[in-house]
Amino acid sequence: MSKPLPTAVSALLADRADAIAEAARELAAFGWTPATSSNFSMRIDDQLAAITISGRDKGRLGRDDIMVIDMNGKAVGSEYRPSAETGLHTQVYRRFPDANVVLHTHSRTQSVASRLFAAEGRVRLEGWELQKAIAGHTTHDSTLDIPVFPNTQHMPELEARVDAWIDAGKPLYAYLINGHGIYTWGHDMAEARRHLEALEFLLGCELDLRRLSP
Ligand SMILES: [Zn+2]
Repeated sequence: MSKPLPTAVSALLADRADAIAEAARELAAFGWTPATSSNFSMRIDDQLAAITISGRDKGRLGRDDIMVIDMNGKAVGSEYRPSAETGLHTQVYRRFPDANVVLHTHSRTQSVASRLFAAEGRVRLEGWELQKAIAGHTTHDSTLDIPVFPNTQHMPELEARVDAWIDAGKPLYAYLINGHGIYTWGHDMAEARRHLEALEFLLGCELDLRRLSP
């Protein structure tokens, strides 16, 4: 049996769980979390985070569908096993102390774009007004690279690629995984949602340009 959560953590978990469930319902309604895919998390403090239990329908999440993990991705106070991709969430919290929310979805646009740009290893966004939706960007007149990493079921491999990108000093606001989906994050739920919605829109624009260009 796992130890029950301290009362203070339980209260924070309930608060985070409600926020995650609300966001997940809306993202599911957009069709971005098909077939129980996708996962969402929120930092609780510098040691703990709340994350969706894998395999749950993201359009119907309640408090019981969210669990606590430590920053090594281990379950805390729960018999459930966290998602196989938990390490990618805790990596964001470790590498970006200002990030408090991580959103991972599998929309059709994200999936197709990841395949189309996999060979280039990145999607380069330039000249789009909506780039300003990404934290720290004040003009369309900038370059925003979203890396595309190869998919793998072996998370340490993916974590190493993310670390290598950050360690090379390249800005990172989000990344695609080939044939899989997107990860993005933010200071709070509103910023993470803004990043996700802007990137979904921008990736859709890039796909349309390729479809429509002679
Ligand atoms: Zn996934």
